Parts: sequence; structure tokens; C-alpha cells
Amino acid sequence: MRLQNKTFLVTAAGQGIGRASALACRDEGARVIATDINGTLLEGLEGVETAVLDVTRPDAVEAIAARVGPLDGLFNCAGVVHNGTLLDIRDEDWAFAFDLNVTAMMRLTRACLPGMLDRAAKTGTASILNMASMASSIKGFANRTAYGASKAAVIGLTKAIAADFVKQGIRCNALCPGTVDTPSLRGRIAASADPVQAEKDFIARQPMGRLATVDDIVPMVVFLLSDESRFVSGQAMLVDGGVTI
Ligand code: NAD
Repeated sequence: MRLQNKTFLVTAAGQGIGRASALACRDEGARVIATDINGTLLEGLEGVETAVLDVTRPDAVEAIAARVGPLDGLFNCAGVVHNGTLLDIRDEDWAFAFDLNVTAMMRLTRACLPGMLDRAAKTGTASILNMASMASSIKGFANRTAYGASKAAVIGLTKAIAADFVKQGIRCNALCPGTVDTPSLRGRIAASADPVQAEKDFIARQPMGRLATVDDIVPMVVFLLSDESRFVSGQAMLVDGGVTI
């Protein structure tokens, strides 16, 4: 058990990477508070505490941080993909992408940080993990303007938090997955003009010839939340199947 005596909060834990991460942390002995905007998606989760949380609601963010108490780890996983070039973006799409992908992450981390500083003072370390993407400041992708810009901001936010609190035992890293086969990816493929071709195109940009599964991503999540990564902070950790080789 690599995460015994640790308490973690995970956002967007109803499906995809967040769900698989919450279950993996549970399996390693952590107390996990799995949250999502969609309570129905949380229903099947066993062995974890669940709570409905819309991370874009400041009052809900303050309330959950107060309710769960000091955390050893926070995985800010919630995010949305806006599909389109600069010419396709409406102001409200841009604002929503930044609100969910960046501002909500800042608020929840700000609300949880005092408790995490207390934990780190006692145990020596606490870990914040922010969901970014390979589509960010790391690499540009077609039709990902708002998404890439917001995920680049996640990396900047991550490095700033890491710099400010490194001496107090807080580590903060960003996770940058490649294309992962999750319900929202399936939705994006299904919504395209030619779904068969869209799936082929996603796979064609993968040097390893396949999409990631959540099981390819979760080991990095567990590592970055655990004490095994105690000398790692401020990093944008790529798990992309070699796309950025
Ligand atoms: P997903 O997109 O399939 O599921 C997202 C989950 O977030 C859902 O359970 C949904 O209910 C929840 N959610 C949506 N709005 C929310 C809100 N306001 N508050 C709380 N929860 C909310 O899952 P995924 O594809 O694993 O994506 C999770 C994260 O990983 C996102 O930040 C995404 O940008 C990032 N990511 C995904 C991929 C990929 O290819 N799937 C690649 C890189 C990064």
C-alpha cells in the first residue's frame, strides 16, 4: 500500500481519468473523496467517499474544502475541450474554457492549501496535481485554441504554486496526457462529421499506434500524489505515447 494514511480529493471522478485515478488511489490505501458535477456517475464508486461538486461554483468549492479537512493530495482533474480554431471561438466559449480549466482549479487549490500546509508541516509533504495536456504550451494541435491556451495556463499556475510553497513541503505538478480513450473523447469522435475517419486521425498521430487507456495514465497520477515523487515539483509530466518525441 503506497498511499496509506493519506487523504486525497479528486475532481471529475465520475468517469475517465479522474474515476480511474480515484479507484487506483483507493487501492493503494488512501482515503479518497471522489467528486464530480454529475452525482449519477459517482453512484457506482465503492470504497471511496463521494460528493457532488461543480468546481466552477465558488461557494461549493469553499464548502467542500471546509468539509473534507486537511488533504495530503489534491487532483484537479476537471476540464473541458473546446473544439475549434481562433475563428470559431465565441467569447463565451473562451471564458468557459478558462473558467473550468484554470480559474476553478485556482479556487479549489486556494481553498485547500491552508489545510495542505498544515499536513505538510506535520508529515513533510503534500501534493497538488493539476490536469493539463500535451496540447498546451508543450505542443500545438489543430482545432484546440481555447483548450491549448487554457492548459498552457494550467502549467503556468502549477509552476507558480510550486515556486511559492516549495519550502513548506508543498509539491505541485501538472499532468500532460496524450489522447486518452475516455467517454468525452468518444463523444468528440461521435460528434465529428466522419466518426470513423476521426478515430483513424486520432490514432494516426500516435507513434505507438494506439490511443492511451486510463490505465496508461493512472500510474503517473499515483506516483505524483505519492511520496515516491518527493523530489519532483513544478513539472509538466508528459504521458503521451511518444507524440512529443
Ligand atoms: P471526461 O471528459 O470523459 O469526463 C469529465 C468528467 O468531468 C465528467 O465526469 C464530468 O461530469 C466532469 N465535469 C464536467 N464539468 C465539471 C465541473 N464543472 N465540475 C466537476 N466535474 C465536472 O474525462 P477525461 O477525458 O478523462 O478528462 C479529464 C481531464 O483530463 C480533463 O481536464 C481533460 O482536459 C484532461 N485530458 C483528457 C485527455 C483525453 O484525451 N481524454 C487528454 C489530455 C487531458
